[in-house]
Amino acid sequence: MDVSNLKRRGLMYVLSSPSGAGKSTIARALLKQNEDLTVSVSATTRQRRGGEVTGKDYHFVDIPTFNQMVENKNMLEYAKVFDNYYGTPRQPVEEALSQGKDVIFDIDWQGTQQLAEMARDDLVTVFILPPSHEELEKRLRNRALDTRETEEQIQGRMSKASSEMSHYSEYDYVIINKDIESSISKAQTILDAERMRRLRLTGTSEFVRGLMGGL
Ligand code: 5GP
Repeated sequence: MDVSNLKRRGLMYVLSSPSGAGKSTIARALLKQNEDLTVSVSATTRQRRGGEVTGKDYHFVDIPTFNQMVENKNMLEYAKVFDNYYGTPRQPVEEALSQGKDVIFDIDWQGTQQLAEMARDDLVTVFILPPSHEELEKRLRNRALDTRETEEQIQGRMSKASSEMSHYSEYDYVIINKDIESSISKAQTILDAERMRRLRLTGTSEFVRGLMGGL
C-alpha cells in the first residue's frame, strides 16, 4: 500500500468566545493558511450589519424560512443567541467532511453542545478568552464606536460576554488572546495536532502491515 492512500476523516473545528475576544480574526487567518479548511456559513434571523456580505458572513433569512429549515432537518444545530436565531446548514458541512476537508465553525456554546452530542469524535472545540476584563471592555467599546451602540447596548454585550464565558470549561482547548499573532499560531498548532490523531486516520493498519512485511 502506498503512503498516498492514507486518508483522514475531516474534523469539525469549533471556535467560541464572547464577542470582542478576537475569534473572527483567528478564524480568518486559519482559513487563509489552510487550503483544506472551509468555513461553515450560518443562517441567522438577525439584521445584516454594515459591511456584512450575504452568503459570506451569514445567510440572512426571515423567521419563517429559518423555522422551515429547522423543520426540514436542514440544520445541523441551531440556537437562540441573544434575541435572534442562528443555525448551521447541514448540507455544506456534510459535503466538505465527505471530501476530507476540515470545517471551521464560529458558533456559541449551545451549538457546540449539540454538535458534541452527534459527532464528538469529529469535533475539536476551542474557547477564546480575552486577556482581562478591562481589555474586553475596551474592545467592546471600540467596536461600539463603529456600530454606534448605546451605553445600554454595550452593558448588554458585557453581560452576554460573561454568560458566554461561563461555558469555557466545556471546551477541549482554551486560548487567552493577549497577542493575536501568537493566538493564531496556537490555533494552528491545535489544528495540526488534531489532524494527526490516530482515530482520524484511515488505512493506517494496512500501511503499517506493509511496513512490517517489508522488514
Ligand atoms: P453575531 O450576531 O455577533 O454575528 O453572533 C452572535 C453569536 O452567535 C456569536 O457568539 C456566534 O458565535 C453565534 N453564532 C453564529 N452563528 C451561529 C450558529 O450557526 N449556531 C450557533 N449556535 N451560534 C452561532
